[in-house]
Amino acid sequence: MPRPERNVTVITGGSRGIGAAIAVRLAEAGHDVVIGYAADADAAARVADQVRAAGRAALPVRVDVAEEDQVHRLFDTAMETFGPFTALVNNAGVTGPLGRFTETATDEMRRVVAVNVLGTLLCARRAAREMSTRYGGAGGAIVNISSGAATLGSPGEYVHYAATKAAVDAMTVGLSKELAPDGVRVNSVQPGMILTDMHATMGDPERPWRNPDRVPMRRPGHPEEIAGAVAWLLSPEASYTTGAVLRVTGGL
Ligand code: NAP
Repeated sequence: MPRPERNVTVITGGSRGIGAAIAVRLAEAGHDVVIGYAADADAAARVADQVRAAGRAALPVRVDVAEEDQVHRLFDTAMETFGPFTALVNNAGVTGPLGRFTETATDEMRRVVAVNVLGTLLCARRAAREMSTRYGGAGGAIVNISSGAATLGSPGEYVHYAATKAAVDAMTVGLSKELAPDGVRVNSVQPGMILTDMHATMGDPERPWRNPDRVPMRRPGHPEEIAGAVAWLLSPEASYTTGAVLRVTGGL
């Protein structure tokens, strides 16, 4: 893969939680970062400040990844500011409220599929078109943030969400093969139970601490422990790694 002189990475959902940790970790590794966020502009600005404190450039951009025109605006804005980008971290994701599948409302399912599947596909397609040597790009890498739920299935909690994350991993495998000859590596990271706002948003802030024994390492993970895996997948150390689904779950 050609080694670009400047690393510019677009991160969706970069304002909080895992995405924010990825933004800071990548800045420390020398990446300028585009911080996609859905609504919380203050949180995105705080992450941008952390990136700048690490000596790199940061650009917060508001985007709902489920909306195609907004996805194009995200990448257009990124390229107007930084020129060509070198990587995408497809991190934005939602679960909807916790609950049994039979009680899950159609609108909740529709939204989770729209953000986690369509949003990830739309961002990956635009990024692939820009980075692929087939279209005149210099190559690059995509990391999709999946979930341990993709193989656990999450019964009684959010089966529909688990299904979307299995779709993300299928997308990773197919895209990695399609784009490998064109200089774009594509990998997934499957986080386990990670300490972010997501659990409060789904209605159970204490969830990561409930039943800790179900995690072989007996504790939830920290966003930084996911960020390290992403940083490695985007580094030259991972130059022969594509189509990998890297599980970071404390053994779950
Ligand atoms: P989080 O703390 O809830 O943060 C979600 C981020 O996504 C925020 O930056 C939010 O922006 C953004 N976002 C939400 N909806 C969006 C949309 N429609 N378009 C663009 N951005 C959107 O979540 P997290 O726990 O860090 O999760 C990050 C990823 O890891 C998700 O894909 C999630 O499924 C996955 N994951 C998380 C866990 C876990 O235990 N936390 C486990 C496995 C997988 P605002 O700040 O503007 O709201």
